[in-house]
Amino acid sequence: MSIRAPFAIATATLAFAGHLAAQQLTPQQQFAKEVYKELLEYNTVNIGGGTTIAANAMAKRFRDAGFAEQDVFVGGVQPNKHNLVVRYRGKGGANAPKPVLLLAHLDVVEALKADWSPDLDPFKFTERDGYFYARGSQDDKAMAAIFVANLIQFRKENYQPDRDIVLALTADEEGGCCNGVRWLIQNHRQMIDAAFAINEGGRGSLRDDKPFLNGIQAAEKTVSNFKVVAKNKGGHSSVPRPDNAIYDLAAGIARFSKFAFPVNFNPVTRVFFERTAAIETPEMARAMRALLQNPQDAAANAIVSRDVRYNSILRTNCVATQLTGGHASNALPQTAEVNINCRVAPGDAPADVRAAIIKALGDSTLEVSAAGNPSRAEPSSIGPEIMAPVEQVTRELFGGIPVIPEMSAGATDSRMLREIGIPSYGVSGLMTDPNDNRAHGKDERMRIKSFFDGQEFLLRLTKLLATTRTVP
Ligand SMILES: [Zn+2]
Repeated sequence: MSIRAPFAIATATLAFAGHLAAQQLTPQQQFAKEVYKELLEYNTVNIGGGTTIAANAMAKRFRDAGFAEQDVFVGGVQPNKHNLVVRYRGKGGANAPKPVLLLAHLDVVEALKADWSPDLDPFKFTERDGYFYARGSQDDKAMAAIFVANLIQFRKENYQPDRDIVLALTADEEGGCCNGVRWLIQNHRQMIDAAFAINEGGRGSLRDDKPFLNGIQAAEKTVSNFKVVAKNKGGHSSVPRPDNAIYDLAAGIARFSKFAFPVNFNPVTRVFFERTAAIETPEMARAMRALLQNPQDAAANAIVSRDVRYNSILRTNCVATQLTGGHASNALPQTAEVNINCRVAPGDAPADVRAAIIKALGDSTLEVSAAGNPSRAEPSSIGPEIMAPVEQVTRELFGGIPVIPEMSAGATDSRMLREIGIPSYGVSGLMTDPNDNRAHGKDERMRIKSFFDGQEFLLRLTKLLATTRTVP
């Protein structure tokens, strides 16, 4: 990008921010912003914070808005890690269709003020230059605030859907003792039962500050870690021998670093590459289409895998992440160990992944730990029942940009819902610049226009999904 361009974009954003600030927010937008600010200023980190204060505050908002006591539930594993579940009742009746579940997590990743820009505080809501700043502004309090505001808006306008709409605001998605989705599944299964769920995990992409594509996440890889250990009898380092635990391990890792798992498409990643080819460079598009035709096409594979994002979607990926070895500086090492972190694609069994790692290391003396039994979930279907409503609202708000199904390399709580048979989709309509992803990072922020567009997107999508003629 040329020097001039960033300035051009900066002035455009500032001009827009000025316009947005000048432009009167609607009462619904003002309300969503208030809820967002309130949620962001609660310190809901794992250690030293907690979600209960936020869950109780949102519960109060629902009660004040007239939700019945039996439709507002707060509870969790321990006192500071509570979740909120709210039921917005539909037409009901004997043949009432199953509810739609709206899911967002209330916890955020730790953030130290010292790590942020001097004039920003991770737990103070700051509006500046067209952005809202705070920890959780992107991950995941925008969706939480929008769901709260939209459901209360439904109440105000006496909207009556065919399905019940269940909102779950949960604890410990980012880590910690008390994952709320797991707890609700184990202790209040009926309360969150649903035909399908809308969650974090998918968002829209901006290019030159304009919507470029809208993502819907329908699959996730799962995480498996393998320990590779080299052993040796050791001895005094003054009398070195050719056999050495660190050398053995290093040689194995060097061979392993050249290994890549075969391409493994699934229904979600097939559509991802089909639709992404349409908006990629001619060379990349040709390679994607050739690979879809023939996953063994080495030349096409090399071109597509050149892009690390696509490489992480094409296959299971494993990478060395931590290394330890030796017990004293004057002793020949008896043990050397490396951790191999794998993101396993649906369809690849951890045991097969372990076998492939052993083969790639090329040294049978290296011990590779067991695969463990990580929870695994098949992709959620991307049939018209979900794609048509998402495409309709995308068209209404963002014009003819493509809706692209995604498999994310990272994990969300959708995994647990898929495991119990609830199709789960990461979709938000929240447009972000893929080169400015600050989730979990410094000066996390949400573009103001994206927040309000996301509010409208999720309001319309929730209504469409809660209407049986749209979704049987
Ligand atoms: Zn998150």
